[in-house]
Amino acid sequence: MKTLATDLDGTLYLDNILIPGVKESYQLLLANNYYIYHATNNSSQSRQIIASKLERLLQVDIDLSSVITPLVVLEDYLKGKNYSVYVFGSDEIKQYISNISNLVTNLETADLVILGRVDFPNEDELDEIAKGINSGIAAATLNKDLTYPVSPTEFKPGNGQIARYIESATRKTLDSFGKDGMLFSDYFINKGIQIDYMIGDRVDTDIVFAKNINTTSILVNSSIENHMPISLADEVFDTFNEFVSSIVK
Ligand SMILES: [Mg+2]
Repeated sequence: MKTLATDLDGTLYLDNILIPGVKESYQLLLANNYYIYHATNNSSQSRQIIASKLERLLQVDIDLSSVITPLVVLEDYLKGKNYSVYVFGSDEIKQYISNISNLVTNLETADLVILGRVDFPNEDELDEIAKGINSGIAAATLNKDLTYPVSPTEFKPGNGQIARYIESATRKTLDSFGKDGMLFSDYFINKGIQIDYMIGDRVDTDIVFAKNINTTSILVNSSIENHMPISLADEVFDTFNEFVSSIVK
């Protein structure tokens, strides 16, 4: 069996609409005995919600364990560690993390600060967090995406802008639970998951992740403008469909 990992937003779909040809080519991969992992930087939804969306759009069964998100990587990372975790993020993210860890509401008692995305970050709160990090509290971000897609043409400031603010205030580089960071690739490596191809639309996350797990990197031009050179990818295609046509007939 061959394995492929694919990004979701901008590669398989935009918002709630599949990119043309994706449904047919995804099913063609399954018919050709490919196992597909779904590697996303979406940090605001559970793997159940993401799997249901994929099932509805693609009309196939999705293994929950094939959906890997920063929250999945975080949950795995926290296993067996008795950390008290302070979360900067939306109520949904706090709720999710409270189910997988000892969530604390007081920064001073935290072992680890997790930075998530909010629509309107409060600078005073971020400055307090930076102070805590400077006094020794560990910190990591769910991802470093500078923008967050809310529709095919609309973006909001992403988690990465919060991470960048903290990094410049602390002069430290934050670990990331997203595809851009080593914790995400360690998840695959530690579980012995072998990937033949990683496909996505972002050089700074998808292609970086492919390099980190030492697999063939495939860039598709179906969504964003990349600010890192596309020549970092092993191969470039216009769409997921075009890539699939190149590996199965
Ligand atoms: Mg993407």
